[in-house]
Amino acid sequence: MSANDPAFDVLRETFGYAEFRGPQRAIIEHVTRGGDALVLMPTGGGKSLCYQVPALLREGTAVVVSPLIALMHDQVGALRQLGVRAAFLNSTLAIDEAHALERSFSRGELDLLYVAPERLTTARCLDLIGRARVALFAIDEAHCVSQWGHDFRPEYLQLGVLHERFAAVPRIALTATADPQTRAEIIQRLALGEARVFVSSFDRPNIRYTIVDKADARLQLLRFIRAEHAGEAGIVYCLSRRKVEETAHWLRDQGVGALAYHAGMDSASRNEHQARFQREEGIVMVATIAFGMGIDKPDVRFVAHLDLPKSIEGYYQETGRAGRDGLPADAWMAYGLGDVVQQRRLIDASAAGEAYKRVSTAKLDALLALCESAQCRRVRLLAYFGEDSEACGNCDTCLDPPRIWDATEAARQALSAIYRTGQRFGPVHLVDVLRGRMNERLLRWDHHRLGVFGIGAALDDAQWRGVFRQLVAMGYAAVDHAGYGALKLTAAARPVLRGEQPVAMRRIAERKRGRRLPAGAVPMAPNASLDAKLLARLKAWRSDEARLQALPAYVILHDATLAEIASRRPRDETELARIPGIGSKRLERYGRVLIDLVKVSGGD
Ligand code: ADP
Ligand code: ZN
Repeated sequence: MSANDPAFDVLRETFGYAEFRGPQRAIIEHVTRGGDALVLMPTGGGKSLCYQVPALLREGTAVVVSPLIALMHDQVGALRQLGVRAAFLNSTLAIDEAHALERSFSRGELDLLYVAPERLTTARCLDLIGRARVALFAIDEAHCVSQWGHDFRPEYLQLGVLHERFAAVPRIALTATADPQTRAEIIQRLALGEARVFVSSFDRPNIRYTIVDKADARLQLLRFIRAEHAGEAGIVYCLSRRKVEETAHWLRDQGVGALAYHAGMDSASRNEHQARFQREEGIVMVATIAFGMGIDKPDVRFVAHLDLPKSIEGYYQETGRAGRDGLPADAWMAYGLGDVVQQRRLIDASAAGEAYKRVSTAKLDALLALCESAQCRRVRLLAYFGEDSEACGNCDTCLDPPRIWDATEAARQALSAIYRTGQRFGPVHLVDVLRGRMNERLLRWDHHRLGVFGIGAALDDAQWRGVFRQLVAMGYAAVDHAGYGALKLTAAARPVLRGEQPVAMRRIAERKRGRRLPAGAVPMAPNASLDAKLLARLKAWRSDEARLQALPAYVILHDATLAEIASRRPRDETELARIPGIGSKRLERYGRVLIDLVKVSGGD
């Protein structure tokens, strides 16, 4: 890093960071020189700096298009903390406020102006821009332009006008959506044919992936939260609105600060819940996937799935909301046969055409293969996005390799049980038959007289459930939706039944989890020296400060910054300035109080 590198100076002075991350530097140089860019970076990768630094280096105001009005306030608040002259223009402003802002924009008094897309493309706003000096256009969440994606915003289609009217102004479009189809659509619709494309690795090394066998999912979730994330913020995804409500309620009864979020709630309470999640600490949001884009809370410590998502894309996007601050975070999912049945049924029942159903089935199968994999989860995830990688050491299969066992005999017994009972029963009954457990239903159907009755005593219930689940996931058995979830054989089952086809399955051990540091993760505070008492004091001070300024706590200072202070115990401003996240503005603003807090909490 040369001494007279203006981008680096801004990074250090204004943002308080010591290094650029990944391709940030190359992107910033390119855009600062006036080039167009398309930036594909995973959530938490650090997209904002890619336009914020050029905004400060180039003459004029950067105009940032952002689809979520709710978040503009926080984004602008965060920039102002750093001494950056930022503002937003959207429908929440009163007319005279908006007019005053327009005047100060025209006079060149702003570094960044955030604008909602529907506002930006009005004649009035375009004229305003035409009269001002614009440093660059940044188009955030650029995948909103894709009609086939899940976040389509019709207003985004109008953004091509920026290129037509202001061809000389550089544009940078940013997204965390990785697939080639969306990329092509962005380039086409935003007229970014000339833009340089920057693709980052989609790896999120600080996220630990875990997929557990579903038994009592709610209880498993509670144990996971209590053991690993007590008092921390997280998101729990469920498929249905009802399950969201019930789970949130139940978690609250268990003493977890949980709130619900789904599209069926009235918008006032939905907004209130979202605002509380952003601002307060340690809230667990139980939500359908309606809770999604625009959660830019950096300290979400876990994302849990109580139901299987539809695809790896969905899973990766949802889990990507954990750990944007780079500190260790968990992606945890409970998965069972019921999930496979449910997702297959949703596909079958959908009114969509055959082609769509085929694509959906292929996507689901890829996700099931991830769930059943005995390989590193991350290797499989990244491979899905076209990246090669090595076993990560920070997922459940790396940390605790599942044992692969020869399940040929068990598979045969399970398939025979399906066949002998007429392919009309679900796994619960089939397990009773195999384990020789007498009950009324068995008697009614005379299933205790079958040859398969009681032949499966060697495995317990959970193991049998696993066998049936894997048979369905591997395609040896299928769910008969007309028959209320009864299992039937597929053509692939025949060689297994005849003993010609060996079957290997994974056995998931119940393991004790400890907080292990991820290998190769982003550097963190050396935990041994962390002063917990000081950290608690710092957090209490931050909460007060956040309330006073009506901003989320992380906008005042990140957890990572507080943790560094609590472990390094800076004694003066020079030492404090070396802490990541402390730029010149924060030093000026909070330096004294932070150093005082360190002093008064002694050194014991
Ligand atoms: P994205 O928009 O790609 O999801 P953000 O721009 O919100 O990511 O950045 C994610 C987090 O990483 C933020 O908390 C940000 O302050 C932090 N960050 C970004 N770049 C750096 C850097 N060079 N050094 C340290 N932290 C960074
Ligand atoms: Zn791994």
